[in-house]
Amino acid sequence: MPSQAETVIAVNVIGFVLAMLLIWAIVVAGAVFLGLCVYNDARYRQNPNAGLWGVLSGFFSIAALIYLIVTLTTKDQPRRCVRCGNFLPSSYPGYPGYPGYNVPGGEFCPFCGQPAPFLHPAEAELYARRRKRYLILWIGSMILAVVLAVVLAVASAAMSIMAMTPFMAMTPFAY
Ligand SMILES: [Zn+2]
Repeated sequence: MPSQAETVIAVNVIGFVLAMLLIWAIVVAGAVFLGLCVYNDARYRQNPNAGLWGVLSGFFSIAALIYLIVTLTTKDQPRRCVRCGNFLPSSYPGYPGYPGYNVPGGEFCPFCGQPAPFLHPAEAELYARRRKRYLILWIGSMILAVVLAVVLAVASAAMSIMAMTPFMAMTPFAY
């Protein structure tokens, strides 16, 4: 039969491990949210490497920072056809914004001839919405993980002090 003290210690250890697992799961979920946020931002900006940036940012948060710096420091590139990837000429109707999407002569890509070479405004709005949603989820999960880690640290310290108290009371130094 385990003593009462042993039971208390076992419960504390199990609680600590479960809390650590919970924090780890939240951090992993946060990494996924960050990757999805970067992916949707890259899709919104018609970055041809959206998938790569998303996956890299999910595995290494530093990649999201590099992506952010690259995106902010890169001048607006000529728009690419979303179907074939060729750069559209600056004389292209509606260049460089979306308003020309339905301008006569702007319905087809001059390279591949496919319709709607621009990202459809509704599609762009969808990516922008998802980007915002995953950004909020990422920030929320990071805050939650930090708060839980602090609570766990404080609880562990309090448990340690409480566990030590009877022993301290038994030593002559306590008097
Ligand atoms: Zn094209």
